[in-house]
Formats: sequence, C-alpha cells, structure tokens
Amino acid sequence: MAFSDIKGQDSIVKYLRNSLIKERIPPALLFVGKSGTGRFLTAKTFAKALNCPNVKYDCCDKCKSCIAIQHNVHPNVNIIGRNSDVIKIEDIRSVINSSYLPVNEGYRVNIIDNADKATVEAFNSMLKYLEEPPKHTVNILIAEIAELLPETIRSRAVELKFKPLNLSFIKEAVKRKGLSDEDAEVIARIANGSMKNIDSLCSKDFLKKRKSFIASLLEFLLNEVTISALLRHWNDFAISDNSKEKTRSFFDTFSTVIKDILLVSILHDTEHITNIDFLGYIANRFAFINGSNFQRIYKLLKEKESALLTNANPYYILLDALFQVKEVIR
Ligand SMILES: [Zn+2]
Repeated sequence: MAFSDIKGQDSIVKYLRNSLIKERIPPALLFVGKSGTGRFLTAKTFAKALNCPNVKYDCCDKCKSCIAIQHNVHPNVNIIGRNSDVIKIEDIRSVINSSYLPVNEGYRVNIIDNADKATVEAFNSMLKYLEEPPKHTVNILIAEIAELLPETIRSRAVELKFKPLNLSFIKEAVKRKGLSDEDAEVIARIANGSMKNIDSLCSKDFLKKRKSFIASLLEFLLNEVTISALLRHWNDFAISDNSKEKTRSFFDTFSTVIKDILLVSILHDTEHITNIDFLGYIANRFAFINGSNFQRIYKLLKEKESALLTNANPYYILLDALFQVKEVIR
C-alpha cells in the first residue's frame, strides 16, 4: 500500500507526506479514531515511506524493505500491542531496549497499537522515552479514545484524527466484493464508518442469521416470541466465541434497533437508520410509540450502556435492558 491507496483520510496523508518533503518528522505521533478507519495501515505505510530506497515521499511497496515491513520482519520497525488487551511495562521496555540505530539509513518506527490499553507503569516508562527519543526514531501510538491516554503523553505527540469512513465509500467497497446494491447498503450502514470485520459482515451466512436475529428481536419487543427463542437466534448469529464480546455485540445491535424504532416512529427520520431492510416493518408495527416513551427508552439505553462497561456481569445487564425496554414499549 502506498499513500495513494489510503482512502478517506486525505488530510492525514497530506500531513505525513509534507513531513517527509520538509524532512521534519515528528518523534511521536498519535493516531486516534475508530478501529477499521485505516490507522494501522497508515502507520505501516509511513514506516515504509521512511525506509523505502526507491521512492521519495512515498513507498514503492515492492522492494526488500517495503516487503519486510509488510510482513512485520523489518529490523527498523517494531510493532507492539496489536490484538492485545493490555500493554505492559515489559512491552514498552522491549521497544526501548531494541532502539539501536536504524539500519540502511532509514528510520526506526515503533508502532504501539491499542496505546489506550497501556497500564500506568507502561505509560510512565513510555514518557521518558518520548521525552528523549533516539535520533531517527518515530513512535506511532494508535488509540481509539485519546482521552484514555495521560495528558503528559498526549502533549508530547502530534495528534491526528482518523474520521469514520463515509457510507458510500464502504458501500462501494462491499459492492466490489460482488454483493448486491441492497445488501451493500445494509452492510455499509451496520459497518458504521469502519472497515473492521467487513469480510465477516459480507458473508451470506452472516446476512441470513442477522435477518432472523433482528426479526426475532423486534418480535420479542412486540411480545410475539419468548426470550429463549430470541437467545437461540442470538447464539446462532454471534460471530465471537468470547462471551464478553458476544454480549457487547448483542447490545450494540439492540441499540441500533431501538434507535431505528425511535427515529422512524417519533422523528419520522428514515435517512439515518441502521437496519434499513426493516424500515417497512418498523414503520408498520411500532407507530404506536410516543414522545414520552422515547425519553424513557433513550435514558434507559444510556444507563445500561455505561453499566455494561463497568459491570462484571454484562449478560445480566443485557437481559435487564431487554425486559425494561420491552416494558416501556408495551
Ligand atoms: Zn520500497
């Protein structure tokens, strides 16, 4: 991937290219934004550009250096925190200890993914390193929520914000995988600005199971199916085996369905709904919801959402939310 292959983040690409042209490379960068918006890809492309001998201010993506970076085996590029739940002090130390001078007149690039999941000790050891970075070293911190990083870290890095990808961009990408316009529209809305999990969202199996799950969720709210029937559909539909992630994704889908009901029934807004393929059903069956219900349901959803983040037993929060919302709707 060269810079021209990074779509939807023009101002960030422009900033990085300019830093190469002006030869003013910031020692610390903070890439902030939702997962699936190109943060890691951009970090790797920047690392390639800083080390590629063939192309100026970009990378060729073909030379030994570019290929080594692509496969995470380049001696100048360290990647930590990828797919990990927590970054410990040892992880940061491994970066610091391997900071000998970069080879081939290139740049050492440390990519610290999930930087917002670092422990306090890890942050502290990082701080000293960011204060006095070795020559020709760039640290790229990647985080979803910048506010979770200590101010001392944030103030030492140039913060670049990755925007959610727009609906039509994702829709076109999905259509290129051979899906129909209708399915692509549904997937692009579910994806909500991110290309993360796009391949699983595009599978025919996912689309089919999602449809049955949402149908049973709506029927549950209308008191037409039992909770056990709903949970059966959910088990069938869930992508992850991790029970915490599973509960979280159920809640996220539940939230989109409730928001869709409120948008359609109260605000008569059909433009911003997620589950566009259920528009007709929602408009027909949930027209009875009124403004005072809206406020109660919305408040309830917000409460449960924050409880879900801190509570040790998210499954019970989810069940509680389902029954309480159903109660208010009736
Ligand atoms: Zn190259």
